[in-house]
Amino acid sequence: MAHEGKSIVLVGGGHAHMTILSKTREIIKRGHRLVLISPSPYQYYSGMGPGMLAGDYRPEDIRFNVKGMVELGGGRFIEDSVVEIRAQERLLILKSGGTIEYDVVSFNIGSLVSEDKGHDASEGVFTVKPIYNLYRAREMMIDWPENAPLRIITIGGGPAAVEVTGCAWALTKSKRLDASFVIVAGGRLLKKFPERMREIVFKTFRKRGIRIIEGLRAKAAGRNKVELENGDTLMADINFISTGVRPPELFTRSNLSVGPDGGLLVNEYLQSVEHPEVFGGGDCIYFKPEPLEKVGVYAVRENPVLFHNILAMAEGGELKRFDPKGGYLLVFNLGERIGVFWKNSLIFNGKTAFLIKDYIDRRFIRRFRI
Ligand SMILES: Cc1cc2nc3c(=O)[nH]c(=O)nc-3n(C[C@H](O)[C@H](O)[C@H](O)COP(=O)(O)OP(=O)(O)OC[C@H]3O[C@@H](n4cnc5c(N)ncnc54)[C@H](O)[C@@H]3O)c2cc1C
Repeated sequence: MAHEGKSIVLVGGGHAHMTILSKTREIIKRGHRLVLISPSPYQYYSGMGPGMLAGDYRPEDIRFNVKGMVELGGGRFIEDSVVEIRAQERLLILKSGGTIEYDVVSFNIGSLVSEDKGHDASEGVFTVKPIYNLYRAREMMIDWPENAPLRIITIGGGPAAVEVTGCAWALTKSKRLDASFVIVAGGRLLKKFPERMREIVFKTFRKRGIRIIEGLRAKAAGRNKVELENGDTLMADINFISTGVRPPELFTRSNLSVGPDGGLLVNEYLQSVEHPEVFGGGDCIYFKPEPLEKVGVYAVRENPVLFHNILAMAEGGELKRFDPKGGYLLVFNLGERIGVFWKNSLIFNGKTAFLIKDYIDRRFIRRFRI
């Protein structure tokens, strides 16, 4: 070993850290120390979250045991969150009050729902992130009395809003609940997507009796009701909040360079533009060469580059560039094992679309299962 062992710290066990976590033993063998700081021993795979809500998967089918991954390889797991980064001192401050020093650090702490006003799940209000909220909503729906009406409102008009509504509908159907559904889309539903996809979703949801309100925003959501900006009030027993995501405030609060959305500003090496020993991946970064959509696809693609670059930084090697590689395939899970597939100009819906998504998602889970 020609190099000195370094302290490598991973903050968040998100989708972009999976390769590093699965290679813990190799990192330790090279003489380094590896620490993972995460508020939970489990990381839920977002792509399968709506399917878990519908009942297609159990929670244990869609999560990674990140604690086990790091510990099995000889690394250290700390169940905590980072609340401040002192980059000049290479020091992380933890929620518990503890501190952790690093030589190289990588952040993969995801994103939060933009309009999360600290809603309380006990009031039936669930932000669609963290994904575990979907499980809590599922539990509430399963416990709902069979003959009592259940009013479900989704606030938001993007893919997550569509998937969560479709999958919640599938659950209420399978449980024979007397449920009604409204989506308050804000602007146009799926406004960034091709018209054909919108048509498929509208047609499917119309058949299911799901009402879609476009061009009107929700002002507030609380216990049993949603207030709209035109003064109307809709009554709800369950509210899903899916109003887009933004990176946590950790980077701004710690005075690091950030992009316009508050994400850690990184260069083509997924490295902070300011501190060479700081890296990041997934939803929490702002990729300076070209802004990336907040989709798990990029977090997944970043895996090998983050692994390489973190070791290269620890050992004085050459860094690799991250190439986001153009387009990607998306499948929305509409519930009842029906999906809408989209890649370039190819759009179709039905069982095959769902099976393609199911195959891709299960393959990713299997790769990092311990
Ligand atoms: C309902 C829904 C469905 C989706 N479906 C898809 C899909 O099918 N395909 C797709 O490409 N994208 C999908 N997305 C988008 C996808 O969720 C995100 O792009 C993806 O989760 C980003 O992964 P990540 O690893 O960056 O963040 P996350 O998955 O959010 O992971 C971040 C981790 O960091 C931890 N953490 C947070 N703060 C701290 C802290 N301060 N200290 C330590 N740890 C911390 C969190 O607990 C979490 O474990 C979906 C999103 C939603 C909401």
